[in-house]
Amino acid sequence: MKIILLGPPGAGKGTQADILRKKLNIGKIATGDMLREAVASGTPLGKQVQDIMAKGHLVPDKTMIDVLFGRIHKADCALGFVLDGFPRTLAQAEALDRALAFEDAAIDRVIELKVDDEKLMKRIVGRYACAKCGAGYHDSFKRPMQAGVCDACGSKEFIRREDDKAQTVAKRLETYHMQTEPLLPYYRVQGKLLSVDGMAEIEEVARQIDEVMGMGKKNAKNS
Ligand code: AMP
Repeated sequence: MKIILLGPPGAGKGTQADILRKKLNIGKIATGDMLREAVASGTPLGKQVQDIMAKGHLVPDKTMIDVLFGRIHKADCALGFVLDGFPRTLAQAEALDRALAFEDAAIDRVIELKVDDEKLMKRIVGRYACAKCGAGYHDSFKRPMQAGVCDACGSKEFIRREDDKAQTVAKRLETYHMQTEPLLPYYRVQGKLLSVDGMAEIEEVARQIDEVMGMGKKNAKNS
């Protein structure tokens, strides 16, 4: 099963991709995570994309297509994959379709997480994570049980993403509307687009995804 999750930054694609990965035993490919790792390790790719990411702009298509194609044939993707953050432009979507068609394969489903920009902004700007174990928190919605201490591992160090600042988030949302939203009609005419309410609670979004994908209770029980 090859699935794309579409939605603006902060729509919950990463969380739902994790759920789908476990449920379907497929690979999760989050291009933003891959780039952040490259930046953190100071690789040539990381150096190339650091400033672009910090400004909330898109990394050039050619670079992203190379990053993705280097990843989709890894062992964890033997049964398929769920894409979080790719494609983000029509050129990327077309390149992906062409590459898969070459292998007699295709994207099966594209799930749109529908969200409200204003609420989204609040969601993103308040988020942070434990620097040690990566557990996610939020200034308003999910504070640690003991202030300043990670519930999961007890660490007292937290990090915020460089590109989660209000101004950058506004830019990333604008980029999404301008460059990525045109992918919705692209996949709709292919008959692959399914939409769910991305503003609902995590479990409810996951339930809606099961429902629109026709996975129903059978798979939900297997999870
Ligand atoms: P994300 O974690 O998916 O929000 O991605 C963080 C940043 O990485 C984006 O704001 C872009 O700068 C860059 N990025 C990730 N995926 C792509 C992509 N498919 N195309 C272009 N830029 C990307």
